Amino acid sequence: MIKIGLGYDLHRLKRGRRFLLGGIEIPFHKGELGHSDGDALAHAVSDALLGASALGDIGELFPPSDPQFKDADSMELLRNAFLRVKQAGWRLSSLDCVIICEAPKILPFRDVIRNSLAAALEASAENIFLKGKTAEGLGQVGKGNAIEVYAVCLLEK
Ligand code: MG
Repeated sequence: MIKIGLGYDLHRLKRGRRFLLGGIEIPFHKGELGHSDGDALAHAVSDALLGASALGDIGELFPPSDPQFKDADSMELLRNAFLRVKQAGWRLSSLDCVIICEAPKILPFRDVIRNSLAAALEASAENIFLKGKTAEGLGQVGKGNAIEVYAVCLLEK
């Protein structure tokens, strides 16, 4: 059986926060604001996995109202989500992501992020891909005030 999952996330970008994608910190003067560490890619991927397996969503499993998730390491949340998915008998066949932000450039960090996700998801980096896009200066993303991420995955069992 195969199932498809879609995840999406958006975070404001603020000075003094770390810019994290898939557990990798990218040097930049702003980063994602969030109750957790704000890693928008980890959040979107978690939701794609949970959606494909119909096991819930990240806001339900790790609610921002719960103080235990304050400044949480989002890669630990992703790992937690993946272990639920794995326990239900699924493995990750494919993951593809789009990261939309005006800056910084994602390409120089693409492969290190792919490897980070592959390690967390017990998958080959060959089956994980991502690319950065800009919003062409439009909207809050285009002004550099926010980042958006889409993730789509295929699970198999
Ligand atoms: Mg989020």
